[in-house]
Amino acid sequence: MEKIIIFDTTLRDGEQAPGASLNPQQKLEIAFQLEKLGVDVIEAGFPVASPGDFQAVQDISRKIKKSAVCGLARCLKADITSAAKAVKPAKHPRVHIFLATSKIHLQYKFRKAEDEILKIAKYAARFARLRCADIEFSPEDATRSERQFIYRVIESVIDEGVNTINIPDTVGYSYPQEIYSLITDIRNNVPNIEKAVIAIHCHDDLGLSTANSLSAILAGARQVHCTINGIGERAGNASLEEIVMALKTRKDVFGDFFTRINTREIYRTSRLVSNLTDFVIPPNKAIVGRNAFSHESGIHQDAVLKKRSTYEIMDPHEVGISSSQLVLGKHSGRHAFGDRLKNMGFKLDAKQLNRAFARFKDVADKKKDIYDDDLRIIVEDEIRVIKPAWKLAGFSISSGTNIKPSAKITLDKRGKLLSVESTGDGPVDACFRALDKITHLKAKLEDFRLEAVTSGKDALGHANLKLRIKSIIYSGSGSSTDIIEASILAYLNAVNKYAI
Ligand SMILES: [Zn+2]
Repeated sequence: MEKIIIFDTTLRDGEQAPGASLNPQQKLEIAFQLEKLGVDVIEAGFPVASPGDFQAVQDISRKIKKSAVCGLARCLKADITSAAKAVKPAKHPRVHIFLATSKIHLQYKFRKAEDEILKIAKYAARFARLRCADIEFSPEDATRSERQFIYRVIESVIDEGVNTINIPDTVGYSYPQEIYSLITDIRNNVPNIEKAVIAIHCHDDLGLSTANSLSAILAGARQVHCTINGIGERAGNASLEEIVMALKTRKDVFGDFFTRINTREIYRTSRLVSNLTDFVIPPNKAIVGRNAFSHESGIHQDAVLKKRSTYEIMDPHEVGISSSQLVLGKHSGRHAFGDRLKNMGFKLDAKQLNRAFARFKDVADKKKDIYDDDLRIIVEDEIRVIKPAWKLAGFSISSGTNIKPSAKITLDKRGKLLSVESTGDGPVDACFRALDKITHLKAKLEDFRLEAVTSGKDALGHANLKLRIKSIIYSGSGSSTDIIEASILAYLNAVNKYAI
């Protein structure tokens, strides 16, 4: 059995998705969960990009013990120095350097230009290798690069001590057979390739990222780059859960390979990443979408009850999805509440537990039965509160047939109460206009979704939105049994990210 190294880049490529930005505390929280999930390498960020990113990579390097921690760098001295310094405290530090090798990226057409690129790659590899023992190199846009040229680049960086060669399909242009032959050709034409592990990095622009990654494995790649929920630049990266479950489910094809992933942590990791990045998981998303294991047609339902494998190729328990069960109600005590959360895998400190319990009591007053999914939302809301600049103190709305919708909102800004009234096209619009007036922000609403967390008329509503404030996108989410309140909380959550 051969091991497939899982290289998770949720905190680097994933975080590059517009509006997905995470603060260092949130990145650390995700890193802990990735470690629990069993990923081999965590690409924690791009340290030279900002002091915040440097800090996040350094914090993660100090705290993560089982997974290797990697920092990204261009082939520039400043980048490499910064990345090597940030990952230094890690038990297994790694620096990942990249350099574009395709003509379209280089904008040159002559061999001389290629020679210059080769020189830069070689120098950067040597420079990096002196600062970190574990170096990964990516010829960016490899799938659109001249074969002969990437062979030369790969050979020369391996000569300088690079031990992982990553092949990125940077623009998501390739297809499975092409990836297969590219990896095969690299193995056959780079004389020293046996000294390095081949990795694959696919994007989903044509919806082929998982298929391409699996094809690379069959051709000899032994490391896969992926992200939780497939988040990432543009259409995203190959999704960790899809790759891991394909390897596990199709033993007839991939029986020679295994990963270190504890698949029962997949669902929780997926929820955490979705919640902290405010990237909603589409209901039909493979493995982790709400509908991934639900059967609607009567014929299917009947067959699944008789024999699960008729229409289900995986057991939802294997990815950590438990059927949402009735767990608690108004009269449940703190102990039962804490126990249930522990069973669900949440680790809260005393302060967080108190806040979550107070919130639970509040919800239980309005909602008779509290399910696992409700608890998850309550806890996820509470664990990410980091001293918000604006808090909702109260609101009222008036709306109806032939009534111009209006809202009055009172916010608490660090102890000071501010109230504003506004009208709008609907009650939510009136609330958002009022919020704009109080905060003096000309925020533009880019995306707004509302969904029920569980079924029933008293279900918790979960609002999720994206605001553009001064050309940067901030996402926010909030939940309440009152959907107007959930919308206001989501708006404030995004505004508070701006205000930090
Ligand atoms: Zn990428």
